[in-house]
Amino acid sequence: MTNMGIDQASLHTRPLIDGFSRRVDYIRVSVTDRCDFRCQYCMSEHVNFLPKADLLSLEELERLCGVFVARGVRKIRLTGGEPLVRRGVMNLVRGLARHIETGALREMTLTTNGSQLDRFAAELAACGVKRINVSLDTLDAEKFRAITRWGALPRVLAGIDAAQAAGLRIKINCVALRGINEDEFIPLVDWAHGRGMDLTFIEAMPLGEDAAGNIEHFVSLGEVAVRLSEKYALKPSAHSSGGPARYFDLAETGGRVGFITPLSHNFCETCNRVRVTCTGELFTCLGQEDRADLRAPLRASAQDDLLNAAIDRALAAKKHGHEFAAQAFGGKAPHQRPMSLTGG
Ligand code: SAM
Ligand code: SF4
Repeated sequence: MTNMGIDQASLHTRPLIDGFSRRVDYIRVSVTDRCDFRCQYCMSEHVNFLPKADLLSLEELERLCGVFVARGVRKIRLTGGEPLVRRGVMNLVRGLARHIETGALREMTLTTNGSQLDRFAAELAACGVKRINVSLDTLDAEKFRAITRWGALPRVLAGIDAAQAAGLRIKINCVALRGINEDEFIPLVDWAHGRGMDLTFIEAMPLGEDAAGNIEHFVSLGEVAVRLSEKYALKPSAHSSGGPARYFDLAETGGRVGFITPLSHNFCETCNRVRVTCTGELFTCLGQEDRADLRAPLRASAQDDLLNAAIDRALAAKKHGHEFAAQAFGGKAPHQRPMSLTGG
């Protein structure tokens, strides 16, 4: 206790509850803004990356994650940019694995483009990672190259093989793109389910430099569902990831298809997550500009008091919902912040 009667220890362990009584127990941590792909809908070919000096070190990221775990975060997703291209990223994974060993952290996972998975899959599994998301929009090597500009499909497929061999469960994330992969919705489901992987379709969000292009290629997931129902009976699933995805079971394959519709508001009510960038900015909503700098309080003191206070202030100001729909359809300027910064 301090002389003011405030229990300092509890300041470091109290749960993260926002102004709408939503409890945050999930953080998505973008460990780098860099990537070995240049997906059309995500970043431009000549993107300017952040100066290295602006990035949190891996030790700082680990400390920051530890502060969130102490405040009741049970799930951490590493993302990016491409998380597996950050040099030494496995040091962070090994550091976070300690929270899994103590039981404080229930799940550590990552979202990856799969290009480096053949190198890291076995070690990820050894560190307690059980499931990962791999982004894959097409099974056509030429189309894959066109979408990702720099990516090679065989490498990603080899990464998926390695991950499955290491015992990792995989969910495929696929951005639905009008005129690009709309002929592959059914083949992608057949392929993923045939390999025991669930598949989630994502609507293209009006983010980043090519927001207009993303609106042009936008396919509503209602339309994807209609296409899938030509072959499958989609039965609403009881499964929930606690996030924006809605799931359907496919009796024909025994697999699950998810739909992430970020342009709808239906998931804000139960939002349990915040995002931390590789520069230590805390974004409390993917669809809002609100951000809090955690790097300064992190570096200002070896104690975590300032950091916890900054997190509390940001959480108290967390908005109820996002504004994608207003931006896409109401003529306001879309966010310029690409997914590679906040990790989606
Ligand atoms: N590089 C990793 C990957 O691609 O999986 C992790 C970061 S990436 C930003 C995370 C997810 O965001 C990917 O599934 C990607 O397809 C998706 N994404 C990127 N830009 C998007 C956009 N404008 N609209 C919808 N999804 C997007
Ligand atoms: Fe890289 Fe992922 Fe963005 Fe593609 S979506 S450019 S793989 S960060």
